[in-house]
Amino acid sequence: MDTALGPPAQMAEQADDLTPMMAQYFELCDRYDDALVLFQVGDFYEAFCGAAERVARLCEITLTQRTDSTGEYPMAGIPIDNAESYIETLLDAGYRVAVADQVEDPDEVSGVVERAVTRIVTPGTLTEAELLGGADNNYVAALAAGERYGLALVDISTGDCYATSVGSETAVADELSRFGPAEAIVGPDVDVDEESVFGAACLVTGYDAAAFERERAEGRIQRYFGPPERLLAGDAERRACGALLAYAEYTRGSSGAVGPDGEPVDPDVDPEGTLDYLNHLTRYDPREYMLLDAVAVESLELFERRSVRGHENRTLVDTLDETACALGRRELTDWLRRPLLDEARIDARHEAVDALTRDPATRERLHDLLTEVYDLERLISRVSRGRANARDLRSLASTLAVVPDVRETLADADVDARLLADLHATLDPLTETREEIEAAIRPDPPQQVTEGGVIREGYDGELDDLRSTERSGKEWIADLEASERERTGIDSLKVGHNSVHGYYIEVTNANLDSVPEDYQRRQTLKNSERFYTPELKEREEEILRAETAADDVEYDIFCAVRDDVAAEAERVQALADRLARLDVLVAFAEVAARHDYCRPTVGGEGIDIERGRHPVVERTEAAFVPNDTHLGSGPVEEADGGETDPFFAVITGPNMSGKSTYMRQVALVCLLAQAGSFVPAASADLPVLDRVFTRVGASDDIAGGRSTFMIEMSELSTILSAATEDSLVLLDEVGRGTSTADGLAIARAVTEFLHDDVGAYTLFATHHHDLTDAAADLAGVANRHFETSREDGRVVFDHELAPGAAAASYGVEVAEMAGVPDAVVDRSRDLLERTGDADTGETSDRETVAGATRTNGHVEGAAVERAVERDIARTLRETDVATMTPIEALNTLAALADRVD
Ligand code: ADP
Repeated sequence: MDTALGPPAQMAEQADDLTPMMAQYFELCDRYDDALVLFQVGDFYEAFCGAAERVARLCEITLTQRTDSTGEYPMAGIPIDNAESYIETLLDAGYRVAVADQVEDPDEVSGVVERAVTRIVTPGTLTEAELLGGADNNYVAALAAGERYGLALVDISTGDCYATSVGSETAVADELSRFGPAEAIVGPDVDVDEESVFGAACLVTGYDAAAFERERAEGRIQRYFGPPERLLAGDAERRACGALLAYAEYTRGSSGAVGPDGEPVDPDVDPEGTLDYLNHLTRYDPREYMLLDAVAVESLELFERRSVRGHENRTLVDTLDETACALGRRELTDWLRRPLLDEARIDARHEAVDALTRDPATRERLHDLLTEVYDLERLISRVSRGRANARDLRSLASTLAVVPDVRETLADADVDARLLADLHATLDPLTETREEIEAAIRPDPPQQVTEGGVIREGYDGELDDLRSTERSGKEWIADLEASERERTGIDSLKVGHNSVHGYYIEVTNANLDSVPEDYQRRQTLKNSERFYTPELKEREEEILRAETAADDVEYDIFCAVRDDVAAEAERVQALADRLARLDVLVAFAEVAARHDYCRPTVGGEGIDIERGRHPVVERTEAAFVPNDTHLGSGPVEEADGGETDPFFAVITGPNMSGKSTYMRQVALVCLLAQAGSFVPAASADLPVLDRVFTRVGASDDIAGGRSTFMIEMSELSTILSAATEDSLVLLDEVGRGTSTADGLAIARAVTEFLHDDVGAYTLFATHHHDLTDAAADLAGVANRHFETSREDGRVVFDHELAPGAAAASYGVEVAEMAGVPDAVVDRSRDLLERTGDADTGETSDRETVAGATRTNGHVEGAAVERAVERDIARTLRETDVATMTPIEALNTLAALADRVD
C-alpha cells in the first residue's frame, strides 16, 4: 500500500509554524501512519495536502485550497452525513481509514477542538450497518504457524469468534474459503503474498509481529474468554487468536492497543476495552464438519453465483433463505458452510424440521414473530462498544418483547422434538433489561443522544424538574407578547428569538416613544429596535440552564442504561444464537413444505435417492425432471437385465442434457441433509459424507499464471490424495486440456485409482466414450447416460438418466441447433462417418454401435436407425424434384425404401 498518505514532509517538519489545528492533524497522521486520516472539521471529514489529492480523486469530490497564516494547501472534505459511502470507496482502493472525530464540544472550548481517532475502518472490521452488505457475516482472520497452523476468525460487527487448528496449507485455504474473510493478518512465521493465503483469495494486511507472541496472546485470550489452555488447543491457535484480538482492539481504538508497527496507539476516547461483546469463542475442529473446500463451495454455487452458464442462477443459500431475520440468515450460511458429521445432531435437526413441517400454524406464527427480531448480535456489539444510540436500545427491547410470545408458541405447539423443547426451555426474555429500556427510553427517540428527547418523563425526578422549569420558562415567554402589548399599548410589538442574541422584544421605529423605561436595547435593525427586560433575561438564562442541565442528565441516564444492557451482553448473545437457530429450523420447514422436500435418513451405507432434484435449478426450470441415484446402496438392475452394485457412475450424454445438474444435485442433496435440512427428493437414504470434492468446468487462473489444464490436474491431485471411501467425488470431464489420447489415459487411470484404492462415491461425466468400457472391467463402476429423443429432426433433451452408455455425443446436432451453417454441419457429418472417432475423441455412430453391442442391444438399433435417417435426408436434400422425370423420381423413391428396409 502507498504509505505517502500524510502531508509533504517539509510541512510536518515545520510543525512549529503550523496552526494548532494543522499540528493536530499531522500528529494524528503520524500516529496512524498506515491509515488515511479523515479529520472532522464541523460537518465534514477533511483530508489535507497529499492525502487530500488522493481522497478527491478517489471519491470524485472537489479539491479545494485552504489558506491560513502558514500558507495555502490542498484540502478535500467529505460530508459526515454520508461519509460511509466515501469510506467504502477508500477501502475498495486498498486504504485503511482512521476516523478522527471532534471529541470536545466546539462551543465549549476557546482554542482548537480536540480530536481523536475513534475507529479505524479496514475491510475486515467494518461494523457500520451502511457498509456491511445486508445480513452476511464479515470476517477478519488471523493465521499463525507452529506444529500445525492456528487460525482464528472474528466478525467484529456481531462478535462471532472461531478458532481452529489445521495441518496443511491446503487445509488453511479450505477453512478460509468456508468463511470468506475480507481481510487476514498473518504471523511472522507465515509466508504469504498480499492478496491470497495459500491460494484462498483474501486481502493480507501487515500487523505487529509481537501481537503473535505467545505470552501476550494468552493474556488477551484470558481477558476476553477465560483460560486459554481450557479453550484452545495448540500454540499456533492461541497465538492467532490473541493477535486477532489485538487487531480488533486496534481497529476499535481500545486502550492498550498497538498499531501495525507494534507502537502503542493511545486513543483518547473509549479508554475501556470496549470489545466486551467478544466473550464467546467457538473452538471447532474441521473434522467435525463435512469438508467443503474452496473449489466445491464455488462450483456448487453455495453462496456465490458462477456466471459461466450465462443465465441467472441463484445460489443455494438464496434458494433456501426463508429466514425471517438477519440472525437466521447468517446462521443458515453457517450451517451450509459447515454441514455436520454427527448423526445424532443431524437427526435432531431433522426431527425439529419434521415437527415444524407438520404444523403449519406454529411455523407461520414463529416466522411472523421472528420477522420482528432485530439484528441482536450487531445491536449488542454496538451497545458494548458504546456506539449504540437510543433507537438501538428500543430495537433491542422490542426484540426482547417478542421472546415470551415465541416461547408461548413453542409451548402451545404440540411438537415433540428435542431441539424445539430445548429452545423453549432456554430462550431468555431478559425481562429486567427490557423493562429498564422501556421505562427509561422514549418509544421513538431521536438519532442524537446528546440533545435531549431520549428519556421518558417520569423516569427521573431531577430530570422532570429541569424540564418543567424549562417548560414554564418557555410558557412565560410565550405569554409575554400579549402581556407586553397590553402594558405598552404597542399592538405591533413582537417577542422573538435568534441564536445569536437570544430572546428579544421587537418594537418598530414608529412606536419607540411608547417603550417603557425598563426596556434595554439589545440590537438595532433598519426599521425597528430590539429590547430585553431584566426579567426576560433572567427567564432566558433559567431556560438555558435547565435545558442544558436536562440534556446532560438525559445523556447520563442513557449511558447508564446502555451500560446496564452491555453488562448483559453474554445473555443477549446466547438469546441471539437461539433465535438464529430457531429461525433456520423454521425456514427449513417452510422450504420443505412449500417445495415438497422429504426427510432424509443419514448414516447408512450408500447413497440412495429416489426422484432427486436440483434445489436451485428446479425453481427456474418449469418442468424439472427428477432422477434417481443409487451408489453403493445395494443391487440395481442394468440395461442388459443384469444386476450390479456400483458406487461409481460414468455418465455420458450430449452437452446440455443435464449431466452437471445431476451431479451437483446429488452433492447438494447430501449436503442439505447433513446441514439438517430436508431434501428435494421423494426419498433419500444417505451416508455421512466426510467431504465433497468437485472437479467441474474450467476455471482459468490466468492472473495466477496457471493454465486450465494445470489447474485441472492440481484439483485432481487434491482429490486423489485426500478422498476417502466416505467422500463424494464429482468429476465433470477430466483431461480435456490435453490430447485425446492423453486425456483418455488420465481419465481411465483416475477411474481405476478411485475405484480400486479410494472407494469414494464417484460421479464422472465424460465425453471420452471409451471410458464407458471401464464398467465392463471394474465391478463397482456402472454406466449411466442421459436420454435424448428427436422431434422434427431436432434433438430434444429428456434430462432423464438411464442405465447404460449414451449412443452418441450429438455434437453435430447441437452445432446445428446453435445455428452453425448447413454446409459446415453437413461436412462434419461426412467426416464423422468417414473417420469415426479416431482424431476427435468424440464418438461416431459406427463406433458407438460397435462399443454399445457389448452392453446394450437397444442402443445399437437406435444408432443404425439414425445413420439411415441421416442418409435419407441427405439424398433428399441433393435431389432436385423440379427437374426430375417421373421415372427418375420413382427410382429414387424405390432406392430410399430399400435403405429403410
Ligand atoms: P450438461 O452438463 O450435460 O451440459 P447441464 O447439467 O448443464 O448439462 O444442463 C443443461 C440445462 O438443462 C440446465 O441449465 C437446465 O436448465 C436444464 N436441465 C438440466 N437438468 C434438468 C432436469 N433434470 N430437468 C429439467 N431441466 C434440466
